[in-house]
Amino acid sequence: TEACLTEIADAGALNAFVHDTEDQARTQAAQADARIKNGDAPSMCGIPLGIKDLFCTKGTPSQAASNILGGFRPEYESTVTGKLWDAGAVMLGKLNMDEFAMGSSNETSAYGDVVNPWRRKGSDAALTPGGSSGGSAAAVAADLCLAATGTDTGGSIRQPAAFTGITGLKPTYGRCSRWGIIAFASSLDQAGPMTKTVRDSAIMLQAMAGHDAKDSTSADIPVPDFEAALTGDIRGKKIGLPREYRMEGMPAEIEKLWSDGADMLRDAGAELVDITLPHTKYALPAYYVIAPAEASSNLARYDGVRFGHRAKLGQGDGITEMYEKTRAEGFGHEVQRRVMVGTYVLSAGFYDAYYNRARKVRTLIKRDFDQVFADGIDAILTPATPSAAFGLGEMASADPVQMYLNDVFTVTVNLAGLPGISVPTGADSQGLPLGLQLIGRPWEEGDLLNHALVLE
Ligand code: GLN
Repeated sequence: TEACLTEIADAGALNAFVHDTEDQARTQAAQADARIKNGDAPSMCGIPLGIKDLFCTKGTPSQAASNILGGFRPEYESTVTGKLWDAGAVMLGKLNMDEFAMGSSNETSAYGDVVNPWRRKGSDAALTPGGSSGGSAAAVAADLCLAATGTDTGGSIRQPAAFTGITGLKPTYGRCSRWGIIAFASSLDQAGPMTKTVRDSAIMLQAMAGHDAKDSTSADIPVPDFEAALTGDIRGKKIGLPREYRMEGMPAEIEKLWSDGADMLRDAGAELVDITLPHTKYALPAYYVIAPAEASSNLARYDGVRFGHRAKLGQGDGITEMYEKTRAEGFGHEVQRRVMVGTYVLSAGFYDAYYNRARKVRTLIKRDFDQVFADGIDAILTPATPSAAFGLGEMASADPVQMYLNDVFTVTVNLAGLPGISVPTGADSQGLPLGLQLIGRPWEEGDLLNHALVLE
């Protein structure tokens, strides 16, 4: 814990940690020492963690990287972080992210950009760590903490993990409680571990997972022993390679990464099978209707009355002006764009044309996966991202749709509620890390992690 606190103090330029909780860290670390001495150390005893700012942590600022939650200190602890403290983990502080987890580059944060600790060969240009869990990814990659929590609505654990050379797991929807995690798109959001290794991911998921009566979408099914599933034996397993993910214009380096990954799995005794997921091309448009729709509804609660920021009012301003000014000041541009898109696709005249159609597409996407798994496929191998980390500012100024294209390989997994993991498996010609994604059967994170072990 002390070593991490020193690293954090030295790494201010990365802008990964945005609220330090040194006192809490030292108290928890001392308790961990005592438990170890008494011989009753739980699974994460003394492990120093960073927590994404989307998690409500009692008494500590929890702002979802938004000005609208300025000054908000929750009276309660999210279920997932509470479970981590019960397992003996130590809280180092809160981590930067895209505002309300909307973004793929950590450039929409009210705290400012996060800098990826990696650089292109021979270049000093600052790169994005990805998003929205960019602070989590940068902090783990730069050894500021041993692991971090992330959340993934459309790729926000897996894409930043790929951009920083770490392991990021999005569990099955319902595996971890969403209670106390600031909502973005409730039918897609899921918390997960961001770690240095696959084994760490298994241990941390074990501590985070489980049914919670306070979240009706958390599943009341047993949590298996994930670490016990890590045998490294995948002989006879069937791995699907979906042909729709072979996008036109895919960089040769990503093609090579993908085929190298397939070779690693084949060498370990798995059978590689060409599969089809025919509705893949509709996933991104469906996601960018459903996610903003749910966001516009979830973010309606930030009205200047209940949480955080309230605008200063002028003479004659009434409650409508209070709402309008508060929301105009408190939300950044990307959040405002999502609220507007979401409100539009849910409006009476367009509901059927957009929102309802997107929901039907979502069902078709899920059926594609159901079919493949029914045909005996154990896991699906794809690239995690269409490229390595790009430069800060490189995409932010472009058409927002360019940024949305980053999520092309990851959003299907959220729409179908499946577990997905990004594993660092290679590097591009500039020396930047690249990740491969494995997608597993629902509730079979153990098996998924075991496949991931072979790629590590
Ligand atoms: N990049 C996607 C978005 O901006 C995904 C974000 C996420 O998973 N939280 O919506």
